[in-house]
Amino acid sequence: MLKLDQLSKRFGGIAAVERVSFLIPKKKIAALIGPNGAGKTTIFNLVSGLERPSKGRIEFLGQDITDQPPHKIAALGLSRTFQNLQIFGELSVLENILTGFHLKYRCRFLKAGLWLPAVGREEIIMKRKAHEILEFVNLLDKKDLSASNLPYGDQRLLEIGRAMAMAPKLLLLDEPAAGLNNHETRLLGTKIKELNQLGITIFIVEHDMKLVMRISDEIIVLNHGQKIAQGIPKSIRDDPHVVSAYLGTKHNAAV
Ligand code: ATP
Repeated sequence: MLKLDQLSKRFGGIAAVERVSFLIPKKKIAALIGPNGAGKTTIFNLVSGLERPSKGRIEFLGQDITDQPPHKIAALGLSRTFQNLQIFGELSVLENILTGFHLKYRCRFLKAGLWLPAVGREEIIMKRKAHEILEFVNLLDKKDLSASNLPYGDQRLLEIGRAMAMAPKLLLLDEPAAGLNNHETRLLGTKIKELNQLGITIFIVEHDMKLVMRISDEIIVLNHGQKIAQGIPKSIRDDPHVVSAYLGTKHNAAV
């Protein structure tokens, strides 16, 4: 599904990512973990086209996407969420989901202005799909509320719902559990697993190690921009390099 080959990114004198290579197979849940500043979000930004690598290559579904802009990568089937929520607070919950469809459906402004029959058909399909997504993320009964009035945990699910509207093959989730309580995090983990069972490959950056260990098939560990380990949860938990760089820190002492 995704292949990073010797990927590097420098910001001035800082090597945010240094010669990182890994594969994420189709239909898996892969997690990227590591201490603050390890380069995790930079890798997400490189993969989704928000940043250009200094060196190296990225393939998505066998295609070279290294220098592709974000909208082209998204159109190939890659959606993402952000560490800092990016929902439209003044729009309703339903409208937020509908904004996610614009890449999937070809409805153009001009056509919409002329109100051609195709537009009406597309709108009906989009609304039906939006309702299905809202049911999936448990927000159907809140569809007419302003997104800014949702509790924080629901806003996180709404962002995932909007990413689902783009019918992704690969979904990047950047710290989806940040700010959630234990109950909300458990629900989130279940939803991520259900999404994966629908055939969507998941790539997640997350500091909540309980969640990561529960849902991941594969974990990649970064430290100071370099990959220091990759493997199944048990091997990562027992890896002395990972324990000393990250898991053994106060932050994750419980794992
Ligand atoms: P966190 O867990 O805190 O989100 P992270 O692993 O996602 O951290 P990054 O945000 O990718 O880490 O940052 C990696 C390094 O690159 C850090 O030293 C950061 O300060 C630096 N960095 C990231 N983006 C930029 C930028 N746009 N300009 C300059 N330096 C940057």
